[in-house]
Amino acid sequence: MATAIAIDGPAGAGKSTIARYAAKTLGFIYVDTGALYRAIGLAAQRRGYAGDDQAAVVPMLSEIKVELAFNEAHEQIVLLDGEDVSGLIRTPEISMMASAVSAIPEVRAYLLDLQRDMAHRNNVIMDGRDIGTVVLPDAQIKIFLSASPECRARRRYDELIEKGMDVKYEDILNDVIARDYADSHRDIAPLKPADDAIMVDTSGEDLETSVNKLVDLMRSRL
Ligand code: C5P
Repeated sequence: MATAIAIDGPAGAGKSTIARYAAKTLGFIYVDTGALYRAIGLAAQRRGYAGDDQAAVVPMLSEIKVELAFNEAHEQIVLLDGEDVSGLIRTPEISMMASAVSAIPEVRAYLLDLQRDMAHRNNVIMDGRDIGTVVLPDAQIKIFLSASPECRARRRYDELIEKGMDVKYEDILNDVIARDYADSHRDIAPLKPADDAIMVDTSGEDLETSVNKLVDLMRSRL
């Protein structure tokens, strides 16, 4: 039986930084499920569809192929119809598209098997919004990360600026707040902690401190 660690929480709570580092330390595969929703958001955007246009997005699902692969450094790559779109999906516009398409039940169903299959075949640390509640309810460890919207927006902003993108802090904060609202209020698989999740607030803490604490915690529970 493969081992699974689920990390859920809102955008910018530090999920990917923590999951990536912990996976490397524990020898697990890190699966970033947000990238899958982003790939579908990108596919919709390329066709000129609005992310919430269910009538357009649902039929599109049978025309596209979304796959996860790993490079030599064991980093995740997302393929859309065979094209590596890992870089293209990291824009604020695609964040909002991903959030919109992720509220469509057929989109979630489409990605469910792919995510479960990854977890059956590998020891994974999987991050997302519904990993502990829906995708891997039997995960051995579930962590729910949170942090204040301002703190999360600041982290996202620093990340995008470092990548050379021209963004404004206020816009990122507004996006964070809008995405939180949409992700926690949708009917299907809303963002919420599993009953048995360990709650961790990373506000005001540098992520290195959170990472070390959480890796210790994971080790003690595996
Ligand atoms: O984590 P990331 O910011 O890349 O996710 C993009 C969007 O994809 C989120 O705002 C959320 O709406 C959606 N998502 C989801 N379920 C997941 C992962 C991401 O609904 N497991």
